[in-house]
Amino acid sequence: MSTEKEHARAQCSCGAVSITISAAPRFRALCHCTLCQAFNQDTHGDILVFEAGDVAPHVPGTIAFKRWRPPPNVRRGVCVRCEQPALERFNARPFMNLTMIPTRMVVAPVPEPAAHIFYDKRVADVDDTLPKHEGYWASQWAFRKLLNG
Ligand SMILES: [Zn+2]
Ligand SMILES: [Zn+2]
Repeated sequence: MSTEKEHARAQCSCGAVSITISAAPRFRALCHCTLCQAFNQDTHGDILVFEAGDVAPHVPGTIAFKRWRPPPNVRRGVCVRCEQPALERFNARPFMNLTMIPTRMVVAPVPEPAAHIFYDKRVADVDDTLPKHEGYWASQWAFRKLLNG
């Protein structure tokens, strides 16, 4: 029904979650915070950051939003069937409304990662040339700078 142009699609491995994305991500980041580790069940999160308005609503009942530790303004959802991390909705000032989607969900060419954030929480050192931001404030600052850049 939507006349909006499809730029990409986010799909989980079982196919229950399928979301239309109408614009390119603002940036891609690798987040080593403990929440991303827990949510992704991995050493870090590999996320694409979209403006919330560029990500169509998911089909009701396909994503389960679990409770996570603070900050509560991020809602993290997994596929109800395969439990693959599906999306994170971030509705908070001073940020605009954002939707983060795990990079492996997105069926389209994706940008290279721009930076590591919360690198102080890393499980293992990463040998690459990307900027590595450590700690809450430096990571928040880097995130905002990527968003505004
Ligand atoms: Zn994180
Ligand atoms: Zn699934």
